[in-house]
Amino acid sequence: MTGYVALYGDPVAGNPTSRMHNDVFASLGIDMRYLDLRVAADDLSDAIGAARTLGFVGLNLTIPHKVAVTTLLDACDQSAGLIGAVNTVRREANGRLVGSNTDGQGCMAALRAAGIDPAGSVAVVLGAGGAARAVAVELVLAGADRLIVVNRDGARRDALVELLTRMGASVVGLPWVGEIEPPACDLIVHCTPIGMRGRSSMPPVRLAALAPGAVVCDLNPETRSTPFLRAARGLGLRTIDGLETLARQGALGFESWTGVRPPLDLMMRSLTSEVSG
Ligand code: NAP
Repeated sequence: MTGYVALYGDPVAGNPTSRMHNDVFASLGIDMRYLDLRVAADDLSDAIGAARTLGFVGLNLTIPHKVAVTTLLDACDQSAGLIGAVNTVRREANGRLVGSNTDGQGCMAALRAAGIDPAGSVAVVLGAGGAARAVAVELVLAGADRLIVVNRDGARRDALVELLTRMGASVVGLPWVGEIEPPACDLIVHCTPIGMRGRSSMPPVRLAALAPGAVVCDLNPETRSTPFLRAARGLGLRTIDGLETLARQGALGFESWTGVRPPLDLMMRSLTSEVSG
């Protein structure tokens, strides 16, 4: 019997994830389909009920559901509980729906695949929204030595600093006013939408201040070559792009639904062709 995984969001149009998963289901001969379903905020509870009734194998959640869904599930994994948001749900054999958050885990997987161990690192996180929270929590769980959270909005920045401090991390928050000079660090992760929708803007950060061995990661999932990454490459710095982190977070979800580790090269090819038209 065909198994179904659905993306719940509003909007869902233009999300490149469904093509990626459907390509891999087809390529591996797995009888499953990934559906993009537009679900309004007020309908989320009914939609989770429908997923239970219809026996969906799993779900992805995107705007505006990542936080609201946490109260509708049977359990959440450790990092999803800490982050307070879920982007992936798996149905266990007993029918329980369990939430996880792979946004930061995809970034950790991309770092490790490039031979970069977050353990013991000093990391700068640009932003304090959902993606930044996910990345920062995973960095702490991975054993990062020190975090610096840079964000415009003080309340959001303080909330993330407080969460990481409660986890036992050494962390400071810095305001983001004008161009910032990053403190000495091994890794800088850009987690804001600056530069999205084809805009050539780049986060105001003086990358030239970074040490030669530093790694620059940009979560922008629209292209492998954002202005931020191009500037970093121009300085000879190592980079990780947002398409790879997206593919790797998708791979974690895929494995949780199927028990199969998907071929990353195919996921990357699907995503790249989807975002480039
Ligand atoms: P979000 O919750 O809305 O948070 C947005 C963050 O960006 C906030 O910290 C906000 O700062 C900051 N920001 C927005 N505009 C800014 C500007 N002009 N200058 C400085 N800071 C600015 O969004 P999100 O869910 O975290 O998503 C952020 C980005 O990550 C998006 O581009 C998304 O596509 C990407 N993402 C990628 C992946 C992946 O796997 N590649 C996964 C998840 C998300 P204030 O608090 O000061 O407003």
